[in-house]
Amino acid sequence: MKQFMRLLILSGILIPFSFANAQLKVFACVPEWAELTKILGGKHVKVYSATHARQDPHKVQARPSLIARLRSADLAVCTGAELEASWMSMVQRRARNRKVMPGRPGYFEATDYVRLLEKPKRLDRADGDIHAEGNPHIQLDPRRIKVVAAALAKRLKSIDPKNSNAYQQRWNSFDKRWRDSMARWKKKAKPLQGKKVVVYHREWIYLLDWLSIKRIGSLEPNPGVPPTPSHLAKLRTLQKPDMIIVSPLNNKKPAIWLRDKKGGRLVTLPQTVGAVAGTKDYFKLFDTIISRLLKAGN
Ligand SMILES: [Zn+2]
Repeated sequence: MKQFMRLLILSGILIPFSFANAQLKVFACVPEWAELTKILGGKHVKVYSATHARQDPHKVQARPSLIARLRSADLAVCTGAELEASWMSMVQRRARNRKVMPGRPGYFEATDYVRLLEKPKRLDRADGDIHAEGNPHIQLDPRRIKVVAAALAKRLKSIDPKNSNAYQQRWNSFDKRWRDSMARWKKKAKPLQGKKVVVYHREWIYLLDWLSIKRIGSLEPNPGVPPTPSHLAKLRTLQKPDMIIVSPLNNKKPAIWLRDKKGGRLVTLPQTVGAVAGTKDYFKLFDTIISRLLKAGN
């Protein structure tokens, strides 16, 4: 019998069980979209994250291992708006997997579905600005995450229709839990409204907008450009910030210098899932961000 089955499989008459139930192979450009895809896909997806939380997604090497992973992927989930521009297009070119090329159903860019902040009136890369298409760091805005999650659930359903019901159910339960959490986070974060902060890189813009916190300056003179002495001299003329926000990726020296000159509390926030201890999932990420802000801001 076993021999007979093997013959049927080899001759292509019978599709092996494992193949018929194959998981969708997903290549996520950054940890936050890997996490969101796992939430929405459950056991129907096998997710590979091209970068980890200790990497700057603006600067990644198009390593052969990334190319090999993309070559076998059914779906790529990236941020877009040039966040991964320096490496993803090269990985796509070399992987030669038509399914996940731009414009194909297997290529998903989160920023296609939301309005971007800090969008320049014209495309401008002057002075090293790496946010030339607008601020791509939408992963820190629960409102935008919800919109992206809805679009991603829809995409999963369309490229893997046999599991459409499962994706729908997982979206429904995520949507409810996320809405409840958003209300809870917003209520908890109320004392932060109107606080004034200086950030290192501008990945906090959407979070600050959501929580009505005011950014009064950035340690980087332009996104992607390290602090310069002349820029730091300008920051000395600022009013006193309540907090100075850095991520674990940033050089803390300029932030410590500014705190010593101007006062305010220095707070390290996770910029994505897994960036600091206790932030393995998207819900815990915002729990941690808000509790750290409250601790520093009071
Ligand atoms: Zn950036």
